[in-house]
Order: sequence, then C-alpha cells, then structure tokens
Amino acid sequence: MKQKLFKAVLWFILTVALCATCIVPFAAAQGDVTVEPIDFKNPDFIRGMDISSVIALEKSGVVFRDESGKTEDVFKLLADNGVNTIRVRVWNDPSTTDGRGYGGGNNDVDTAALIGKRAARYGMKLLVDFHYSDFWADPGKQKAPKVWSGMSVDEKCTALYDYTAASLNTIRDAGANIGMVQIGNETTMGIAGENSWENMAKLYNAGSQAVRDFSRDTLVVIHYTNPENSYIKTLADFLHDYNVDYDVFATSYYPCWHGSLSNLTEVLNYPAEKYGKYAMVAETSYPYTLSDSDGHPNTISEWNNNSGENMLWQFTPQGQADEVRAVMNAVNEVDGGKGLGMFYWEGAWISVGDVTGLSGDAYTKRLEQNKLLWERDGSGWAASACAEYDPDDAGKWYGGSAVDNQAFFLPDGSALSSLHVFRDVLGEDSYRIGDADGSGSIDIIDVTCIQRKCANITTNVTDDILLHGDVDGNGLSLIDATILQRYLVGVSLPYPIGVWTQGE
Ligand code: CA
Repeated sequence: MKQKLFKAVLWFILTVALCATCIVPFAAAQGDVTVEPIDFKNPDFIRGMDISSVIALEKSGVVFRDESGKTEDVFKLLADNGVNTIRVRVWNDPSTTDGRGYGGGNNDVDTAALIGKRAARYGMKLLVDFHYSDFWADPGKQKAPKVWSGMSVDEKCTALYDYTAASLNTIRDAGANIGMVQIGNETTMGIAGENSWENMAKLYNAGSQAVRDFSRDTLVVIHYTNPENSYIKTLADFLHDYNVDYDVFATSYYPCWHGSLSNLTEVLNYPAEKYGKYAMVAETSYPYTLSDSDGHPNTISEWNNNSGENMLWQFTPQGQADEVRAVMNAVNEVDGGKGLGMFYWEGAWISVGDVTGLSGDAYTKRLEQNKLLWERDGSGWAASACAEYDPDDAGKWYGGSAVDNQAFFLPDGSALSSLHVFRDVLGEDSYRIGDADGSGSIDIIDVTCIQRKCANITTNVTDDILLHGDVDGNGLSLIDATILQRYLVGVSLPYPIGVWTQGE
C-alpha cells in the first residue's frame, strides 16, 4: 500500500489549505445492492476480509452497527454477511523503546491474537500476515525488525523460524483458528532486508518450516503484488527453481493500478497450472464514495484526480459490491479449482471522528481531535513515533485512514448494503454451518434438532437441512450438538460455526 499512501500524503500537502472548504457532502447512496451468484469450483472458497486496524479503532471509540443502526460486534456483522476468513497483519515490534506505538493498528502478536480469537468466536478462520518488519512492508520497503539488524542471513533464518513458531502458538493458544500464514507481505522486491533470490528463498523456507512444524493443516502463502507486470510470473519460476516450500501464490489486486481482470486470472493460472499451487488475491479494495470522512486524504479521491470515469464500476456501494464479485469471479476462473479465494483489505478502517460537512474552525477542531486519537491509539496509518524506525516516509507523513471511503461501513459505523456481497455470491441455496433447523441463526433449537435426530425421534426438519448441523465435518452426531452447546455459551472453537456456505 505504500505507493498509495505516499500519493495521498503528497496531495495532502497541496490541498491542506483548501481542505476545509472542498469537502464534498457525504453522498453514499444506500440502496438495494444486488449481485449475481458465482458457481464456485472450490466449495471452501475464501471470502475474506482484513480488519487489522479494528482493535485500535475501538480504543479510539469507534463502534460498528448493522444496517438499521444497532450497535454490534464487527466480527459478528462480517460473519452474518458472509465473510468466512479474517486476515491480520503482524509486526514484530511496532513501538519505541519507551513504548509508544508506531500506529497502523499497532499490530503486534498480541493484537493479532485478540483479532484471531474474536474471528473464531464467529466461526471464521485466520490468515496471519507476517511482515517480518517492525512496520509496513511492501515493494518499496522490506526493513528487518530492529532486533534483527546486523544479523547474517542464516542468523535471520533462525530468528524468523523462532519468531514465527512462537507467534503462531501465541495466536492459537488465544483461541484463533489459523488456516493460512503469509511468509512476508508484498515481497516482490525482498523480505526482511534481503533482496537476493538466494537469501529470500532461505527466509521463505525458514518461515515455511515453522508453519509445517506448527500444523500440517495450515497453508503457507507467498504474497506478491503488481500483477499487471509480467515479472510476477518470473517470481513463480524463482520459487520453483529455489525449492521454496509453499502452498498458495498470492497477489494484491487494486483495480486502479493493477491491470485487467482477465490478466489477473492469467497471472494466477500460471503457478496453478505450471506448479500445481493454489492461487488467490490477498488484498483488494474499492471506493463506495469519493468523500473523505476523517481529515486524512484518501488514496482514491477527487484530490488525486481519480473520478472513476476510467473504471469498470462506479464509486458507489453497488460499484464496490460489483468489484468484489468481479475479483472473486476472476479468482474462481483459475483452472482446476485452484483459485482459493479473495481478501478485501481493511474493509472497516473508518473515521475516528467524522469531519463530513464541517468547515472552518469546526473542521480544524475535529481534525485535531482525530490526530490525538491516531497518536494515542495507533488508529491511523502511522503515528509520529514511527519516525524512530521509518524517518523518511511514515515518520514524515503519519496520520489517519487513507481508505475510509473503501470501507463497508459509513462514518457512523453502520454497515453498507454492499457488505451483503460476501453472502449474495453464494446464491439462494446457501446456508450457515450449524443451522440444523434452517432458521438462519444458530441457537438451542439446532442443538435439540440434532439430539432428536441422533435419538431417532422425528423432527419437522428434513434430513438435508439437518445435515447442516454437521459442524465438525464428520457426519451428524451428538458431538455436533455438544460443540454447538459450547459455542452458544461463548467458547471459541476451531469449527466454522455460523459461517455461510454454498448449497449443493
Ligand atoms: Ca481519510
């Protein structure tokens, strides 16, 4: 995301004097958003979302609401609307020696564990996105963590293995259900301060080995970006030629910069067909409005002359939903069911204080309040404390959210109707895992239905529907009833309870 953040801050400088007067009235036209279902080749297709900043946002007082405005846990809202996997970034030590957070959610291992636990509460798996850095890592920046500086590559491999192993255990012990692990973030040009292919391969394999030793059921992901550049295929060859052990070839896909959907499918097909790997989109996003709502300029805005006229979809909730469906469809078209899924990037990074409609002193006052929250809680993309580690970029341009207009929530936290897309793509036959009576929710009736079925007592529910109560995937039994009972009293469990899935 670095390039976009950087563009945003440049425009911030040019427009700061104007910003109090050029705020566009908030015009997110809510309304019925509709998308066509997708016939998924992979029944477990990932409809994922990254909400890494959410803990920091909540510390800053942000609340999330359903479409009617009722306050609700954002994790429940995502699960209710069809999201089945959560992605979280992890930085080794995103704070100064005296404990001031660098911002961007201050996402250390403990924060990731908290997010993973809450995701598991609603049946969602976790993708752990290790940056192997103390702050943002992307194609322009792959700085090793502070404590790794000066290490040889072999010493870094040992440190990376140990750090990965310890972190995964911490996150799992908190109650998270870890489905996938990224060995680095957007590592197109390097990882953890190393940029030769030989050293990159060593570091990838150190991380991969830690994941293999952790669990054979957890997939290893290598993440690149710029799919519009054919170099990304060269990277797939490199991974093969250097014997990197991995399962999933992932790319970011931001449609304003990253080429056509047909090219995306072709790029993902390459490692799938040639090397038998899974392929997925690890990050995408799209604006539902051009308006900013926190006083920090957005990466896609009228200020950087992106009106959307050259885009396939409008900058509306419907356009946002259409983009998500189109990217899912492009991944689904990868041959042989190797298209694993898609993650939306930071779909809940909304304003900590709405500046919409404010001007003059009122605008300035709200912006100053927001700055205090970004600094205190790390709820903006970077805080001033990061200058210690990244003096030339984030240390200069720190501030709030550059993607609040790409979230699935209005500035007051209410869900947009576009959030439905994660469920609507499943079609009318979709159902929630664990919903043994077909009511649409998980409750004690589901437990009773399973118990009656297992005792050969007649129920009003057909066998097809009752089978949706098979939460452990081993066929319907009293164990499923027990698992559901534990879920209903608030226990985090490694089963996809309540997650929407595609019917037969
Ligand atoms: Ca903003």
